[in-house]
Amino acid sequence: VNPAFELARDLIRIDTCGHGELSAAQLIARRLEAAGMQVRIDRFAGNRANLVATTRADSEQQLMLSGHLDTVPADGTMWSDDPLGGTCRGGRLYGRGTSDMKSGVAAMVVALERHLGSGPPHAAVALVLTAGEETGCAGARRLIDCGLLPATRALLVAEPTANRLTPGHKGALWLRLVARGRAAHGSTPHLGVSAITPLARVAVALHEHGLPGDHPVMGCVTANVGTFSGGTCTNQVPDSAVMTVDVRLVPGVTADQVRDHIGAIAGETVTIETVLEMPAVYTTPGDPFAIRVAEVLAAANTNPNAAAPALYFTDASVLAPALGDPSVVLLGPGEPDQAHATDESCALEQIDEAAAIYELLLDGLRGWA
Ligand SMILES: [Zn+2]
Repeated sequence: VNPAFELARDLIRIDTCGHGELSAAQLIARRLEAAGMQVRIDRFAGNRANLVATTRADSEQQLMLSGHLDTVPADGTMWSDDPLGGTCRGGRLYGRGTSDMKSGVAAMVVALERHLGSGPPHAAVALVLTAGEETGCAGARRLIDCGLLPATRALLVAEPTANRLTPGHKGALWLRLVARGRAAHGSTPHLGVSAITPLARVAVALHEHGLPGDHPVMGCVTANVGTFSGGTCTNQVPDSAVMTVDVRLVPGVTADQVRDHIGAIAGETVTIETVLEMPAVYTTPGDPFAIRVAEVLAAANTNPNAAAPALYFTDASVLAPALGDPSVVLLGPGEPDQAHATDESCALEQIDEAAAIYELLLDGLRGWA
């Protein structure tokens, strides 16, 4: 019997789709307290909760392990099995959150239990589990606002990377462009000002020229015009139009630079609102923590080479700046393309392997100053 798999299955069976993280946090808190950790559950909005656990509360942490407790929704009518059932078949665990990212959470908890159970001195390590990551990292922001985040030198986020060392991810900038024009009869367009035209100009420019800036490892900044609407009827000059854009940032390209660039194309009749702003996260190959993780992967007989940075964003966009930009590595069980998928699953051997990797990492920190 595999304890990391069992805990992952128990977590799958708790519905944490944008609510209900408290039950999952309480289950984990009981286990970590029994293992000797100091645990704080930060409960809010009824049954939502973050969890912060530390082995040594007063010191700066050598490492923060991090993940989220919530999942995206699942439409059970489209699934082969109950998304909350935790079905096991063909060496895989099925259910919403198996890859993103309850298997990673379970592997971290079991690794901490094993590390703490194998005798002192223990690593100074924190486990930070958040609510509401999938809907804009509300839990992580709350931990920062409430001053509940311990200081740390390194951050490992257990999002699904198939247990590959992943040195960061692109950022995201979601913009809402609102244009105002002046209505006139459709037969006399010269008497009005179209609100659609400046937004159309931006949409075409983004499509044909993209946005400036790239990164040697992460590649280029991308932009997708996701929605576009404007006008009320065919025989009227449109006096309002709205467009939303999903920009994916790379290190070295700031949200301000993108807003300025788009604003210059759009002109003064367009207001740019920021819906979501998540900076990119990147750790260089020569970073001491990244090297340490690579050594652990080699010791665990898994691939120690860094994978390409992830395309999805994580709590690290919020946590890393608040922590003073520690070294950040993503490493967790599950395949990235399983995240948010129908019939989401995770290979059982990856859950086991992740727990072993985390345990080796923690044991290697033992007795550090
Ligand atoms: Zn996730």
